[in-house]
Amino acid sequence: CGIVGYVGPRQSQAILLAGLSRLEYRGYDSAGIAVIDGDGSLDMRKRAGKLQVLRDDLVGHPMTDGTTGIGHTRWATHGGPTDANAHPHLADDDKLAVIHNGIIENFGELRAELDGHPFTSETDTEVAAVLLGREYAGNGGDLVAAFRAVVARLEGAFTLLAMHQDHPGLVVGARRNSPLVIGLGEGENFLGSDVAAFVEHTRNALAIGQDQIVAITPAGVEVTDFFGAPVEVEPFEVTWDA
Ligand code: GLU
Repeated sequence: CGIVGYVGPRQSQAILLAGLSRLEYRGYDSAGIAVIDGDGSLDMRKRAGKLQVLRDDLVGHPMTDGTTGIGHTRWATHGGPTDANAHPHLADDDKLAVIHNGIIENFGELRAELDGHPFTSETDTEVAAVLLGREYAGNGGDLVAAFRAVVARLEGAFTLLAMHQDHPGLVVGARRNSPLVIGLGEGENFLGSDVAAFVEHTRNALAIGQDQIVAITPAGVEVTDFFGAPVEVEPFEVTWDA
């Protein structure tokens, strides 16, 4: 339901939680975040319930922070509002984290292809995460290419974000029938399901078009179509009061 992503020099946990809290107005039933720390290991925490449940959990059991991160608030469509069904979903031996807004309509078909995989949730999202993990392992570790190959196969509506611990400083995103915007900072960049996710940090934004993919790093952003061809994106300034 709500999505935020960060790459830059700052610790991402507080930025992700603040972004999710700005997206709370959309309604949700679970929340979660994943970060990649300085040693290049991925940590993840997710809880059913209000963002405050996740915050309390993090206070009681702090997780490693990191300067690359993604955060999600979920509105359950496939599988009830449980800790296990909350996002992020992990794959590739927990080195890869994926969050998703929307519905992947052909997830049943794709799940059948992954026959025998021990899924940990009932979500359509985990199927995309596992597919991405397989594609990534099979292509020699090119996250953007693997992401491109997987999103092209997904039907329905999705804003999808992914990051892998072998690529600290990189978050990839895609959208089809569901919104995704980029926030441009100085030495840092953001992704959000809407500008509320990052408006307290930057008012310079880029709107990603239908069926486009973006890769953000602290140094810049690259937008392509699902086949990898570069596309022009429209810059705009967020003018409303945050
Ligand atoms: N279909 C996904 C799920 O049920 C994502 C729902 C959402 O948009 O939050 O987990």
